[in-house]
Amino acid sequence: MDPAQDALIVVLKSIRDQADAVLQRIEHAKQRALLWKCAACGHTKHFTRPALAEVAAPFPRCGGATFDPVLRLTRSLAKT
Ligand SMILES: [Zn+2]
Repeated sequence: MDPAQDALIVVLKSIRDQADAVLQRIEHAKQRALLWKCAACGHTKHFTRPALAEVAAPFPRCGGATFDPVLRLTRSLAKT
C-alpha cells in the first residue's frame, strides 16, 4: 500500500479516537451536572457534586420536572 495512504489512515484513526473521547465526555456530562436549568422557568439548581437530572426534580420554585444540564465543557476539555 502507498505509504502516504498509510499515514493518512493513521491520522484519520487518531481524529476518530479523539472525537470518540470528546463525545463520551459530552454524554457523561449530560448525565451528571453541577448545574441543572429548569426547562419551565429557567432558574438553575446548584449541586456540590455532579448530580443526575432525576435528583434535581422537582424544581422547588415551580415544581418543574424537566431540566437541561448547564455544561462547562470548555473547562473540562482544557485539562487534556
Ligand atoms: Zn422551574
